[in-house]
Amino acid sequence: MNKRTVYADNNATTMVAPEVRDEMMPFLTDLYGNPSSMHLFGGQVKKHMDTAREKVAALINADPSEILFTSCGTESDNTAIRSLLSARPDKKHVITTRVEHPAVRNLCQSLTNSGYRVTELSVDKSGQMDLDELREVIDADTALVSIMWANNETGVVFPIEESAELVKSRGLPFHTDAVQAVGKLPIDTKIIPFDLLAISGHKLHAPKGIGALYIRKGTSLSPMLVGGHQESGRRAGTENIPYIVGLGKACEIARKNIDREYREIKKLRDRLEHELIEKALDASVNGDSQNRLPNTTNISFKYIEGESILLLLSEQGIAASSGSACTSGSLEPSHVLRAMGVPFTRVHGSIRFSLSRYNSDDDISYIVEKMLIIEKRLREISPFTDD
Ligand code: PLP
Repeated sequence: MNKRTVYADNNATTMVAPEVRDEMMPFLTDLYGNPSSMHLFGGQVKKHMDTAREKVAALINADPSEILFTSCGTESDNTAIRSLLSARPDKKHVITTRVEHPAVRNLCQSLTNSGYRVTELSVDKSGQMDLDELREVIDADTALVSIMWANNETGVVFPIEESAELVKSRGLPFHTDAVQAVGKLPIDTKIIPFDLLAISGHKLHAPKGIGALYIRKGTSLSPMLVGGHQESGRRAGTENIPYIVGLGKACEIARKNIDREYREIKKLRDRLEHELIEKALDASVNGDSQNRLPNTTNISFKYIEGESILLLLSEQGIAASSGSACTSGSLEPSHVLRAMGVPFTRVHGSIRFSLSRYNSDDDISYIVEKMLIIEKRLREISPFTDD
């Protein structure tokens, strides 16, 4: 008998949608041409690459010429930040936040070794940033501002429109890591004036190994990879056509269904969250409940270990993730929850459930049932109490 599984770790990665896989298959078999080749094999695939670029652009209401294909969200973030810095070699101040993904945070921290000053904006206990702090820290030496659209651990959504407007009003470039937001929230380049925006395929049901960077017309870009003239000279290397086609399809599906999926996934998330908070012995939600991705809930179970919860959930076939230690190979507790001032006892017992279109009401019932048993069991053996 097959063991029941429930995948609730979609902020880590998502299942490749069957429609995406089907769309990719011909490019792994017959359609293997190089899009730069001047013969029919090349021409065949070039037109599919163009269509994929149109589909990615359409999801964020951009022009196809503003989309650069990359290998992942990390490459998109690195290309954006390094490129903006090289365009302003005399400016040595970078502004970002304390809760960025390592793709931005570790890059910015590494810049301090090359003489940069990095300001990380704080967040309050709901994980929300303060626009006044952003206004105050911008100075004459600021080279760029990079603020994530939505947080991968808590799902908290930042005020990107206000931030981008503020930064642009000071004549500075604005990059946003929108890896967790694209496909989950409506994004419109004509409404919000960011200059650069990072996308990752595997967070929206395309495969791992493909990403994109939106580059607003007029923003100069210095390539990270130097070589051939692919991607209009902005990224050398023969294009990964099957994955580009897959990303295009994933974006097309996301665009078609974004409103309905927002409502349906949020309903499942809200039910999961309410039932756990109501029925668990001591659980609380981490993060701004108003401004949050529809699919994410980060819940702390006081005095019990996140790792133990994860292992026991995994034994029951449930995949989630923990904000405490070890899961990401690091012994540090989550920098996001620490920046929010979540007490140690709650950081260590925090679990993130992140849902997708492939979750059902039955999945939620199953998670709640198993999670409550696990909480009770671990609490009985926990050495910690309030006394
Ligand atoms: N930014 C955020 C907010 C993420 O959640 C992730 C991945 O978890 C990344 C960037 C990195 O994306 P990739 O895995 O495609 O490099």
